[in-house]
Order: sequence, then structure tokens, then C-alpha cells
Amino acid sequence: MDFLRPTTWEEALAAKADRPDAVPIQGGTDVMVEINFGVRRPSALLDLNRVAELREWSMTGDACRLGAGVPYAEIVDRLGGELPGLAQAARTVGSPQIRNRGSVGGNLGAASPAGDSHPPLLATGAVVEVESRDRGVRMIPAEEFYRGVKRSALEPDELIRAVHVPRVTGPQYFSKVGTRNAMVIAVCSFAIALHPRERRVGTGIGSAAPTPRRALEAEELLAAELDWDAPLDPALARRFGELCARAAAPIDDVRGSAAYRVHAIGVLARRTLTWAWNDHLGRRAA
Ligand SMILES: Cc1cc2nc3c(=O)[nH]c(=O)nc-3n(C[C@H](O)[C@H](O)[C@H](O)COP(=O)(O)OP(=O)(O)OC[C@H]3O[C@@H](n4cnc5c(N)ncnc54)[C@H](O)[C@@H]3O)c2cc1C
Repeated sequence: MDFLRPTTWEEALAAKADRPDAVPIQGGTDVMVEINFGVRRPSALLDLNRVAELREWSMTGDACRLGAGVPYAEIVDRLGGELPGLAQAARTVGSPQIRNRGSVGGNLGAASPAGDSHPPLLATGAVVEVESRDRGVRMIPAEEFYRGVKRSALEPDELIRAVHVPRVTGPQYFSKVGTRNAMVIAVCSFAIALHPRERRVGTGIGSAAPTPRRALEAEELLAAELDWDAPLDPALARRFGELCARAAAPIDDVRGSAAYRVHAIGVLARRTLTWAWNDHLGRRAA
């Protein structure tokens, strides 16, 4: 197995263009598990850890540009204000060891329907920045990035450089059901982001369909019926939960049944909307 170690982004793109078979490795918390279990035996590994810019983040105009290799621990410690939904999700990933190594870029690269980054990226309207040496940069909205179970829109010669998460303008929440409280892959998960200026609520469903997905009908319901100046109508919150549950298309597996997941998504959706709404009204009163 060849081991490629670029030190700059340009070198990394060149290496991927010349060796599209090379498997990128950032934290290695997915890649090394697959190699150790014999699921994958790549002809080459492309180690991105020396590419310093992948570990950087910055505020650019109306978005936070988060380098693909920023580890979860740093998102939790330093970006709770800029990326509240993603930071909540990051807090639930694996263990401290996994959070020190694992990254959002790696979560996107793996494109597992159960990845915890995906629901907040969908709810906030994030955009994935990918690049290839020969075709340049592509900006892919998160909802177009996920193409199937562990399949994404990434081409073999492309690398993920960053995600652009719109500047936070309202409350955001992430909630996850697992078979225990830590070190657990989601049975299902849900993220919500309020966008008060646009009078819009974004959603993201995790681990309850072949890909992470938005609950579009539920979003449309709130866009049409939510009174942004009033307490949340419990009947509306219930209908929102029902439409989110209807947007799920889960399977039965070792972690949970499809029926349980559908039910749980409805509960998580109603609950996170209520938390976010209480914050929204609290901020207005303050
Ligand atoms: C014990 C344990 C617990 C875990 N718990 C959770 C959990 O609770 N929630 C969760 O979501 N995940 C969990 N995971 C899975 C894993 O930690 C996450 O998916 C993590 O985000 C992967 O990031 P990484 O940097 O380690 O990726 P890597 O393993 O380095 O890479 C993952 C994939 O992304 C590709 N890739 C990496 N960087 C790039 C790039 N810049 N461009 C293109 N492709 C790239 C790789 O080729 C590979 O296909 C767990 C894993 C373990 C071992």
C-alpha cells in the first residue's frame, strides 16, 4: 500500500488527480476501522494531516468556513457560538479520543446515513466546498451531497476542502437517540435551525432513511402557519412532528426497528422545535 503525504492543498489535489484510487485519510476513525476489519484494502492512502489549511476555520461574509479536517473537539471547544447545532452534534460523537481525531470532512467523506454532522448541516443550509486539480472548485449544497447509503456527490479526483455554514441568526438544536448515552451510533437523530429573518425553519433527519434528508413538507407547514411573535401552538408542533416522522424512510436493523425510528423522529422534531421556540421568544423578550 502506497502512503502519500502532501504538505500543501495543491500537492494534495495533484496527488488525488494522479491517483484517484488513493483513499484520503484525515482522522482515520472510519478509514482505519475499515482497514483493520478487512472491509477495504486501498492501493494507496492519501494522508491529509500535513495540509494545515484543512485545520483552519474563519468567518467569511455570511458564513463560517470550517476546514474539512477541523476535529470535533475543536468545534465543541471553540465554535459553540458560531455553529451551535453542529457543536451539539459534535459533542455526541464517539468518545474524547474519537472527537480529537474525527472531522466533519471525514463524516462527509464516509457519507453514512447515521453520521451526526449531517442533520445540522442540512438544517442550517450548509454548502460543501470540494475541489479537483483539473476542474476547480464546486460548491455543493448539503442536501445535494448525499446520494445514497455511504455514497456522495464527490468525484474520484476531488477532495473536500471545507463546509460553509450560514451565520447563525436563530436557535439551533440537535438531538440523538442511541442505545446508550455515549459512544453510540445514532438510532436516529434530528436537527432544527430557526432562521427568523427569513421566517423559515430548517430541518435535518439522520439515521432514518438511506441518506440524511430534510423534512420538506414539515418545513413548508411552519413557513405557512408559524406566528413568529406568539407562543408555539401545541397542535402545530404536533403536526410538525407528524410530518417529520412521515419524511423518514428507515429500515429495521440491529440498532432499532423502522417503526420505532419513525415514532422517535416525530418526538425529536416536536421537542427540538419547542426548545428552539422557547429560546426564540426568550431572546425577543430580553
Ligand atoms: C469508536 C467510534 C465511535 C464513533 N462514533 C461516531 C458517532 O457517534 N457519530 C458519528 O457520526 N461518527 C462516529 N464514528 C465514525 C467517525 O468517527 C466519523 O465518521 C468521523 O467524522 C470520521 O472523521 P475522520 O476525520 O476520522 O475521517 P477518516 O476516517 O479519515 O475518513 C472517513 C472517510 O472520509 C474520507 N475523507 C476524509 N477526509 C476527506 C477529504 N478532505 N476529502 C475527501 N474525502 C475525505 C476518507 O477517504 C473516508 O472515506 C465513530 C467511529 C469510531 C471508531
